[in-house]
Amino acid sequence: MSETRYDWLADRWVIFAPNRSQRPDEFRHVHRSSSSEVECPFCLGNEQLTPESLLVLPRRSKASTSPQLPTGRFASQRSNRTWQVRVIPNKFPALAPISLSGLSDLDVGHLSENHNDSKRPVLPMLDPLQSSYQLSGVHEVIVETPKHLNSLTQLSPTQCKLVFEAYRQRLNHWRAHDALRYGVVFKNVGSDAGASLSHSHSQLIATTFVPPEVFRCCQRLMQYRESYGKDFFEDTIEKETIAQKRIVYRSERLIAIAPFASHVPYLVQVLPIKDEPRFEETSSQTLGELAMLARQMLAAIEKMFPSAAYNFVIHTSPFDPNWDQSFRWRLEIFPRLTKVAGFEWGSDCFINPVIPEEAAARMREQLNLSTLLAN
Ligand SMILES: [Zn+2]
Repeated sequence: MSETRYDWLADRWVIFAPNRSQRPDEFRHVHRSSSSEVECPFCLGNEQLTPESLLVLPRRSKASTSPQLPTGRFASQRSNRTWQVRVIPNKFPALAPISLSGLSDLDVGHLSENHNDSKRPVLPMLDPLQSSYQLSGVHEVIVETPKHLNSLTQLSPTQCKLVFEAYRQRLNHWRAHDALRYGVVFKNVGSDAGASLSHSHSQLIATTFVPPEVFRCCQRLMQYRESYGKDFFEDTIEKETIAQKRIVYRSERLIAIAPFASHVPYLVQVLPIKDEPRFEETSSQTLGELAMLARQMLAAIEKMFPSAAYNFVIHTSPFDPNWDQSFRWRLEIFPRLTKVAGFEWGSDCFINPVIPEEAAARMREQLNLSTLLAN
């Protein structure tokens, strides 16, 4: 029997079809990249193979108090033996780099027209059939360890917290840049999830525009407040707390939920209990707890699906404070167990073979709560 649920935020229906997970090859043809780099550019000692460091966090320091090491080519060479996390420009960026003066002529044109106007899209449609822009932004790589490890779960708790501290520092850095409107941190593990190198790393992209999907999400959140007089996430947490079926973890600061209408199997969303629009402004305590929770959830995924690729994404409010009223930062983790097939392409209606209640129960079983709460 299948059940169809509505995802209010994405404004789409999701079909839950548990019988499909019984198909003979379900969840088997997923595999992680096993690339065997002869010379990994992210390993300690190979810093000369990458662009100059933008941020270097040292080894054996607590994330909240660690001073930054100097950045740049020379500094990177000097600190070869001490770094734990390095942030470098992506050698193959998805966007044209922002110019030193900040904006291209084209950016200036469309941004000045829409600056600080959260009711209008940042990219105006110049031609209904063939609008196109040459967009710029920043694309960075966060190298999470100097050792050739391929998972965040192989890092110590202190090292893992340092990675999340790097995310926070880089988002704060780019948010202060006048040219940029939006930033996102994400992690791809395995070729099915989009990774091209196996050395544990994550990425940050900041753009001179608010991407259309993010813009629509912000609009939906404001619409929910206008329609129901309440905050979307506050309502969600309240309903999930009453239902007690899809909560994976809860503390004073954070809640992890398998969303009611999750469009992919085993997706877990972690969000702050309090209304916090920006990940980069969260407290060090919350950041540390989030790092531990993410590490445990990834360990759970690796245990349940040993060869599965996975992603995580940190959503934070667009840089323009006008969006903050309805937004709440959140981390989404999901293994890549299913492929987008013909029906999804044709209908934009997803089929999920795992009911979220079952996903939450299995994830709960795998988490080591005593370790989590001790941190
Ligand atoms: Zn390496």
